[in-house]
Amino acid sequence: MNKKLQVMKFGGTSVGDAVCIRRSATIVANAAKQFSVAVVVSAMSGVTNRLIDAAHNAKRGDRQAGRAIADALRRQHFEALASLVTADAARVSVERRVDEILAEGSRLYEGTALLRELTPRTLDAISSLGERLCAPVFSAALSQMGVASSAIEATELIVTDAFHGGADPQADPTRQNSQARLGPLLQQGQVPIVTGFIGATPDGVLTTLGRGGSDYSATILGAALDADEIIIWTDVEGVLTADPRLVSEARTIPEISYREAAELAYFGAKVLHPKTLRPVLPAAIPVWIRNSFAPEKLGTKITAQGRSIGGGVKALTAIRDVALISVGGPGIVGVPDVVGRTFSTTAQLRAEVLLISQSSSQNDICFIVAKAHAQETLEALRREFAQDLTHQVVDHITMDPNIAIVAVVGENMRGTPGVAGRTFHCLGREGVNIIAIAQGSSETNISFVVSDESVKPALLATHREFGLGGPTIG
Ligand code: ASP
Ligand code: MG
Repeated sequence: MNKKLQVMKFGGTSVGDAVCIRRSATIVANAAKQFSVAVVVSAMSGVTNRLIDAAHNAKRGDRQAGRAIADALRRQHFEALASLVTADAARVSVERRVDEILAEGSRLYEGTALLRELTPRTLDAISSLGERLCAPVFSAALSQMGVASSAIEATELIVTDAFHGGADPQADPTRQNSQARLGPLLQQGQVPIVTGFIGATPDGVLTTLGRGGSDYSATILGAALDADEIIIWTDVEGVLTADPRLVSEARTIPEISYREAAELAYFGAKVLHPKTLRPVLPAAIPVWIRNSFAPEKLGTKITAQGRSIGGGVKALTAIRDVALISVGGPGIVGVPDVVGRTFSTTAQLRAEVLLISQSSSQNDICFIVAKAHAQETLEALRREFAQDLTHQVVDHITMDPNIAIVAVVGENMRGTPGVAGRTFHCLGREGVNIIAIAQGSSETNISFVVSDESVKPALLATHREFGLGGPTIG
């Protein structure tokens, strides 16, 4: 009988240095006694940021930037190898591979510095270097432990469109490639170590899935290989009821639904890349979030159903790097297509809108975008509505950066009356002023906008109100 298949992903901090890589490889080696295992790795922590910074320096004409980072990465990966791999031949062959990848990188940096141009395609090729360097090191560490393993570049497996910097995977060809390439290795009992974060277009041009995309790589591969489960090994103990830096009673949630987890990811809880769960929905593959630094803890299991709890609220999250934009005035009822024009403006800027609220008299539309997009959105709206502002049909377009969104998430609050009542009642009791409110008809979250300084009291009050601090949640 075929063994069950686990796809495991190790994030940057879980492969941050030799000690972390050894700890993570031990987790794989233990799992491999019982399961077929395929591994996805991120770059060593911080490497992707450094690669990208150096690329921007090269674009400004800095010829040294590429050399400096290549030297630093060579040292870093060689150092990890020296402590992880004692067999000379094995180590030297990985060192050679590291040098080959760095030589490719150096050419990309040179080209960038020479042309003073950094296309999205080149930036993808540069930012992929971290994963490409890490996979062979991890694989060698695992082989050293006696587990047969090989490093594989995901350009051979994951087929995407050509949207550089945030490419979308194509399920069918990815499935064919992954099964053809990884199937035989898994059959032989080998553990493939696949680069996270990257893919390639059908004609082989490297793409990336977006920052933090290695989680997504793991679920794309998990789905392509019909995995029995996917484990995202990270540096926190799963999905928490709230940010523990703000709410000291925050707990790990034992089980949560895809929808709830996606909602939390979307609303800025940093555990998962927001697209991560998409590939696993059709086959309902469970996804675990676990802590590679504390593998004895069970972490959080993400499943189709989740597990219901009393009251229906599972977790709270807050997004702080956002700004509230409002377009309004008593006259806007008469402005043709004010809603359409507002959001086609944000769409043109590719500014993601995180929350929308509109009062029924239509005299104010407000919405939230990331702070990074706030100023340009404001300016674009003022241009779009210039005429209307002159004629005072629109009397204000304003932006407030000192706010945050708090979202109360839980799939089982659907149809549970009283959740909104309890939420706003407890906030009122704490004296938290609410600036705007939104609840989608899916009823899996209630989100509200508060001033920045009210975030902590709002989280504390709702966390207590719904008994999220335990003792028996989940
Ligand atoms: N290394 C990539 C990044 O830092 C992908 C990942 O870590 O998930 O964005
Ligand atoms: Mg990461």
